[in-house]
Formats: sequence, structure tokens, C-alpha cells
Amino acid sequence: MIEITVVGAGLAGLTAALRLAEAGYPVRVHERHPHPGGLARVFTVGGEPLEVFYHHLFTSDTAYVELAEELGLANAIQWLPSRMGIWTRGRLWDFGTPASLLRFRPLGPLDKVRFVLSTLLLQRARKPDPFEDVPASEWLQRHQGKRVWETVWGPLFHQKFADHADRVAMVWLWRKLYLRGRSRTRSGMGERLGYMEGSFARFTLELASRVESLGGTIRLGDPVRRIERDDDGFRVVTRGGEHRAGRVLCALPVPDYLEVAGHLLPPGELEKLRQLRATGALCTILEMDRSLTPYYWLNVADPEMPFGGLIEHTNYIPRERYGGTRILYISNYLLPEDPLMEASADSVLELYLPALQRINPDFDRNWITGLHHFRAHYAQPIVLPGYRKLIPDFRAPVPGLYLCSMAQIYPEDRGQNYAVEYGQRVARTMLEDLP
Ligand SMILES: Cc1cc2nc3c(=O)[nH]c(=O)nc-3n(C[C@H](O)[C@H](O)[C@H](O)COP(=O)(O)OP(=O)(O)OC[C@H]3O[C@@H](n4cnc5c(N)ncnc54)[C@H](O)[C@@H]3O)c2cc1C
Repeated sequence: MIEITVVGAGLAGLTAALRLAEAGYPVRVHERHPHPGGLARVFTVGGEPLEVFYHHLFTSDTAYVELAEELGLANAIQWLPSRMGIWTRGRLWDFGTPASLLRFRPLGPLDKVRFVLSTLLLQRARKPDPFEDVPASEWLQRHQGKRVWETVWGPLFHQKFADHADRVAMVWLWRKLYLRGRSRTRSGMGERLGYMEGSFARFTLELASRVESLGGTIRLGDPVRRIERDDDGFRVVTRGGEHRAGRVLCALPVPDYLEVAGHLLPPGELEKLRQLRATGALCTILEMDRSLTPYYWLNVADPEMPFGGLIEHTNYIPRERYGGTRILYISNYLLPEDPLMEASADSVLELYLPALQRINPDFDRNWITGLHHFRAHYAQPIVLPGYRKLIPDFRAPVPGLYLCSMAQIYPEDRGQNYAVEYGQRVARTMLEDLP
């Protein structure tokens, strides 16, 4: 039987491994971290697992929910109301509902009408074509005006895409708004978001245990260093040794794929892959004895602030689950080469403290009872005009080698749902090619 190696035990790798093992193939998964889950992995706060990066589901995340049902976890997903706000012009505003838009003074009445009408237009547009080759900054300023761009979208794009903000393609926002429109309640009172009781790690761990129960092996903390191809298949070199495989699936961020398999690829493919850039994520988590704002999700649309979002997890999930601690994620997307990516937790916190105090003048550093800090160098693919033409196939131009990466997700934005969907799709492609 042909042996398959899967590199990466994120959601995409584990989902693909499950489908391949179910088809009867011997599967071996190698993961760099000591824990599975990739960007959706967890650590512990107050005895309870918590994602290192904030995570929730939208009701449009059907592939994830269907697999959760199959794993016996459908009832573990709770759909809870979420409150959203925005920090702009030096104060907090409710955001995300029709009533809050009416009270949002940074935009004038005409801005609001254009904002609502073009959002409705976007939510009804079914095809990506009109949005693929135009920068969002251009499209939005044309349809909603300069003030809406400068007040709402510009700072948010800048927060997520750093220096690339002005060039990101409209298709990225179109698909997000299209799907979010379906995630709202009919009452227009904001949306319900999904969280898994006991954290999203339950899903990952169940996936891993199903793979193992089907005879697969999962090697944690044993990264793949290099993949070599010869006449008989692949030689896979890992930290702990080496083994042979008939097929290899790299379920990895593009830079990690290039590191382990780049030398096997033809120059044209390398050139395309190198154009697929992403921002990294820096996530500082504060445990606190008081709440900073009333919001779960706060967009910080102010270029003077050193971070772009505050996600107060315990304004969404009851804090009693974490021993009464309030949990605040401070979100910052940066280019991977930004020196702040490598800064220590304490120095990043020093940079953030005055900004937290601006948002809530009562805030004092004595509120903080715990500090955690996580970074990912590949967190958000940067979708520029013409992106579709750069997307690599699941089948690499090397017989027997496959790629499943966040960079292939299109036109949707990356997320757990699409890691599951694309993991299943790449497994189907591999099974088509296998005897
Ligand atoms: C800040 C942030 C917030 C997010 N919020 C949400 C959210 O609210 N909802 C949502 O659905 N999604 C969210 N996501 C996205 C979601 O986490 C990802 O889309 C998804 O987890 C990606 O899964 P993946 O398997 O494709 O990739 P990854 O999770 O990146 O998995 C790749 C795996 O490969 C491993 N690896 C790398 N190199 C090697 C090697 N050489 N050998 C072995 N292993 C290797 C890595 O350690 C990792 O485990 C968020 C992401 C970030 C960064």
C-alpha cells in the first residue's frame, strides 16, 4: 500500500489525513509544534484551554459544522450574540447594526446612505469577476466616498495588510461582506458567532484521534526538514530521522513549503509562489480582573494607535469558565519582517499600555494579572489584484507531491472552515490520482 506523509497538523493537514486514512492508506503526519491545531492551537488559562489567537465561527462556516457533526461535536458549538464596536475620532462607538450606524457621527447622512447601499450591492453580487482586478481602496472611494474610506475601511485595511493596504483587491472584502450578510440575524440586531465549548482544540484533538484509530501516526514536535524525490518516491527528512513515502502532502504556509520542498520546484512555480505574500499576526493576551470595554470585537480605526483590534473574549464567553479572569486579546497584523514581530512580550505591552488607557481612562496596569504573547509569521494572505492567476494547484509540478495552503483559499478569506474544506478537497484530488 502506498504510504502517505502529511506535513503539518493544522486543520487542513489533519482533515486531509482523516480522509486519506478512511480510504485505507497508511498516513503519517509530522507537526513542528508539540501540539496539533496550527493557528487554532490552544494554551491554558484558569485551567481551561484557550486559543492562542482569538477564534469564532460564522453561520456560513458549513464545512466546519458538518465535520463537527461527523466527529460528534455538533452540540458543542454554541451560537452566542456578539457586540461590536469601533474606536475612531478619539472615542468608542457601537458598530455593526443599523441602529448603531444611525448614531455613528463620524459619517454624515450621505456617507451613511452610500455605505448602506453599496454594502447591500456587495452582499447581493454573486460573481467575483467585477472585484478581482480592482483595489478595494479605489472601489470603495468610488462607491462610498473618501470619508468612509478614511474613517472606516482605510485604517482597517492598514491594520490587516500593513503597507499593502491600498492595493488589496476588492474581491477580498466583497466575499467577506457577502458571507457576513448571511451570518446576521434577520432582526438586524447584530450577529451570532460560534464557539466550541471547551475550545476549538476539541475538534482538532478528535480529528487527530480518529486518524490514529484508523492506523495513522501523528508525530508532534518532529518537523520535516527536507523532502527529496527519487525514482522510488520520496525521502522525508525530519528532526527525528527519515522515512520513505509514496505521496507527500504539504499542508503548510507557503514559506514553510518553500523551505522543505522549494528545491524540487521549477523556477516558474517558485517565482509565482514567492509573490504570495502574507502578513504575520502578533497577539498579546491580557488576563485582567476588570473589563476594558463592553465589546467582544473592537476595531481600532486610528492610525495613531499601536494595534488594530481588541477582542475581549470574556465579553462573549462567560469568564467563569476561566476561573473568573477577563481575557483580552490585543491584535496586531504586521509584515513578517517588521522588527516588532520579534519584540518581547514586556516591550510590546509597554508600547500598548498608553493606548489601552486612551480607550478606557480608568485602565491601570494593576488590572493585569497575566500576560501571554504569541506570533505567527504567516497569518493573513495578501490578496492583490490578479491574485487568482498566482494560486498554485493542489498537485505540485512534481509527481506525487501536493500542496494545501491558506494561500489557495479564494475568493473566501482564510479561516478554519476553509482549512477543513480545502483539506477535504486536496484529499479527494490525491485519491483520484492513487490506485
Ligand atoms: C490572529 C488570527 C485570528 C484568526 N481568527 C479566526 C477566526 O476567528 N475564525 C476562524 O475560523 N479562523 C481564524 N483564523 C484562521 C485559522 O486559524 C486558519 O485559517 C486555520 O487554522 C489554518 O489552518 P491550516 O491548517 O491551513 O494552517 P496552519 O494552522 O498554519 O497549519 C500549518 C501547520 O504546519 C506546521 N508546520 C510548519 N512547518 C512545518 C514543518 N516543516 N514540519 C512540520 N510541520 C510544520 C505548523 O506548525 C502548523 O501547525 C485566525 C488566524 C489568526 C492568525
